[in-house]
Amino acid sequence: MQGKLYIDGAFTDASDGATFTVQDPFSLETIGTQAAATATDLDRAIASSENAFGLWRKKTAPERAALLRSFATKLDEAQEEIARIMTQEQGKPLAEARGEIAYARSYVTWYAEEALRVNGDLIPSSAANTRLKVLKEPVGPVGIITPWNFPIAMFVRKLAPALAAGCTAIVKPPRVTPFTAVKVFELLHEVGFPKGVVQLVTGNSGLIGDKFLDAPGIRKISFTGSTEVGVQLMAGAAKTLKKLSLELGGHAPLLVFDDAEMALAVEGTINAKFRNCGQVCIAANRAYVQKSILSDYLDALVPAVNKLTQGSGLETVDMGPIIDEKAFRKIEGHVADALAKGATLVTGGKGERALEGRGGYFFAPTILTDVTPDMRIMQEETFGPVLPIATFDSEEEAIALANDTPFGLAAYFFSGGLSRVTRVEEELAYGMVGVNTGRISAAQAPFGGIKMSGFGREGGPYSIEEYLQTKYIATQI
Ligand code: NAP
Repeated sequence: MQGKLYIDGAFTDASDGATFTVQDPFSLETIGTQAAATATDLDRAIASSENAFGLWRKKTAPERAALLRSFATKLDEAQEEIARIMTQEQGKPLAEARGEIAYARSYVTWYAEEALRVNGDLIPSSAANTRLKVLKEPVGPVGIITPWNFPIAMFVRKLAPALAAGCTAIVKPPRVTPFTAVKVFELLHEVGFPKGVVQLVTGNSGLIGDKFLDAPGIRKISFTGSTEVGVQLMAGAAKTLKKLSLELGGHAPLLVFDDAEMALAVEGTINAKFRNCGQVCIAANRAYVQKSILSDYLDALVPAVNKLTQGSGLETVDMGPIIDEKAFRKIEGHVADALAKGATLVTGGKGERALEGRGGYFFAPTILTDVTPDMRIMQEETFGPVLPIATFDSEEEAIALANDTPFGLAAYFFSGGLSRVTRVEEELAYGMVGVNTGRISAAQAPFGGIKMSGFGREGGPYSIEEYLQTKYIATQI
């Protein structure tokens, strides 16, 4: 594949012809090249986004909704093709890739409807001859920056509400998985969005980020990625006081209480930990199990974990490769550090290169017990298929352990007691809480974190607000 930029309504090479290579994480073979935008290309995209904004914001809401609905239909028609591209560049099993496309599509249809409900207010005035009116207006051109773990969902989840609100958008997907976005932009082009309304830029992330930050006309940046880069963007956005949404890293706790239904707890743990090979911002990063049920939990969980298969995502497997060597080394480092500090290896623990004679990085699904708070794995996001399990005695202790982190994205717990469920869900200091489930994300619900996991919400009416600003009009009649 040879991917291009999409600027001002046309696919184009970089102005100096520069490209970068993209590899298949399963084979480590090069699967194509992608255009690397220059400063000139980025200036052109920003100018086009600003020009198009004047026109796009004036389209009627039904006109914008109709284009979003056509986009959803195109996603359906191209689902299999996009899934194969995604699996090749990201490694996830095809079934998960198909699921991710359906998930991305659900945001498009949801915001096609929500576009029709961007209502203002008429406020009762205290003077008979004045009228007080509130309008909701689109914030302006938006820069969208997203990570590799969900190559379609992360940017479509932002693009759909932005377009519905009347904003134009420039999407910058990650270096390692640009081709899914290129394919989606072919669909957006076919749908017929006016030129400049949606654009795609790829290449040097520092250059692209700086161009977005420095352009006074880019009024918002919506970012999903690491906390480290999110903090840099927030500092940079101060120069032009841009609006920000930051969906950052997590360190999700998963609590299992002695009144939990064990089958639900095990199913929830597998979902919350091993989907996408653990490379998920809301993946359970650490489990705390009530001491009296630890052996029952392990008896049920370990066989289920040992059944998980690994291999090429194009075959029928549960998990594909780790995205790259750097990510693999982090996982390996977390396990080595835990073992050196006294953790017990229950299953897994092996990093493997060259599975079935191929080049990619694989890490066996792993469970550790006897873990302690001083271990790196209990403090940092691992982003891999490793579950460290600690124990607790009381509910208060479990909540304190769960909340003892600078992060606040997602938390999970399993309990069958109504009073306990109510107490614990209220005490967990997280943006999202899964109760007796490991699956929490939905187009109509607010996805997002607190503390060092960022701010802003994606999904439902909460997200369209992120792309709107409030104008107050006082009129004397
Ligand atoms: P990352 O390094 O922060 O990269 C994310 C995106 O930012 C990529 O497109 C990257 O481009 C770009 N980028 C990197 N440096 C930049 C800079 N200086 N200026 C502007 N853009 C820059 O994160 P990652 O390793 O790809 O993704 C994993 C992280 O994302 C994890 O921490 C995970 O928890 C988080 N995440 C959060 C959510 C959520 O909703 N909260 C969802 C998914 C993932 P290049 O790749 O081209 O360098």
